[in-house]
Amino acid sequence: MKPENDLERYGLDTQCVLAGRDPHANHGFINTPIVRGSTVLFETVEKLQSGKQSYVYATKGTPTVRALEEAWTQISGAAGTVLAPSGLAAIGLALQAFTKAGDHVLVVDSIYRPARNFCEGILKKYGVEIEYFDPLAPLEAIERLFRPNTSVVFLEAPGSQSFEVCDVPGIASLARRHGAISLLDNTWATPILFPPHERGVDVAIEAGTKYLGGHSDLLLGLISANAATFPALRQTFDMWAIPPGPEDAFLAMRGLRTMPLRLREAEKRALDMAHWFQSRPEVSRILHPAFPDCPGHEIWKRDFLGSSGLFSIILKPASKAAVAAMLDGLKLFGMGFSWAGFESLVTPFDCASYRTVTQWKPEGPALRFQIGLEDMDDLKRDLDEGFQRLRATG
Ligand SMILES: *Cc1c(COP(=O)(O)O)cnc(C)c1O
Repeated sequence: MKPENDLERYGLDTQCVLAGRDPHANHGFINTPIVRGSTVLFETVEKLQSGKQSYVYATKGTPTVRALEEAWTQISGAAGTVLAPSGLAAIGLALQAFTKAGDHVLVVDSIYRPARNFCEGILKKYGVEIEYFDPLAPLEAIERLFRPNTSVVFLEAPGSQSFEVCDVPGIASLARRHGAISLLDNTWATPILFPPHERGVDVAIEAGTKYLGGHSDLLLGLISANAATFPALRQTFDMWAIPPGPEDAFLAMRGLRTMPLRLREAEKRALDMAHWFQSRPEVSRILHPAFPDCPGHEIWKRDFLGSSGLFSIILKPASKAAVAAMLDGLKLFGMGFSWAGFESLVTPFDCASYRTVTQWKPEGPALRFQIGLEDMDDLKRDLDEGFQRLRATG
């Protein structure tokens, strides 16, 4: 086997198998090893001063971290990637790289809530004005929000609780026309289901904690950028010096090999479960981009190559106690944040507590589901018993 430098000619599954490794540079071992370290030695004064040695200090890169950066650049169709120790750290780093005091930033109202907290708690403190907009607003209305000092438009599609799909390519091209950078949280779709840069996005964030890791055992963030934006991103990263640990980068690379396979299975299971929910009398609506009544479904069909394993449902009106009785007694669905691991999860949520420009008034309680790799029949039985508790409590 020869080191493969030209991965472009292969499909994405093959690229996920080959990217970021070079067995014959590692004594024939298939995987790039975990390299721990801080100091990197130089043999001569000349090498130390030349700035040309591949590695200079571990905050700026190790073989483990760089292999993952290169692999992600390949999979994302980007010019370059930097890594961060969590998805949220990646969001903060990217926002900081492209904003300064006096700027105006447009943020989709359905953005991941902790990202909103970063905008409110940190960007505002440094003199950046934040304005939210409706993910489903027509492009003309969104275009009117741009100002001469708009530096970033921050998107997420679909919203990771409510699943509206905004027009990412349309908004990214508005941003370009108005001299702003488009930034996308692409965690739900990953580059496998939504190739961000091909769709016109400048900078894309992935919480590697989710599908890339895939086993609920690591935290990681990745930021891929096109050629125009990568230098500024890298410069900000170098000033911060917050790389992930080498074990986490290694585990993420291990996850990459099976990510397309796991995504296909996640899609199948989530759709199966969403259709099952649709047949239940306790359920009012399904919020899943592949369902025709999900807001933004047509855009999803146009832009995405599939759906992943996370979606929500709206129950028919039920008391808090009834929902608690249903969820507290579940045996296979854990309650907790994060998702995209091998195990099933459920969380109750209420977008009304933080959104500012869109209404969130569902007819009943809202639940978000991550469907894991348990037997589907076992999962449905667990939920069926949950629905019985819901009905019994009233
Ligand atoms: C989980 C998540 C993040 C943050 O990732 P962490 O690694 O948990 O910080 C960002 N965006 C979305 C959509 C997420 O689901």
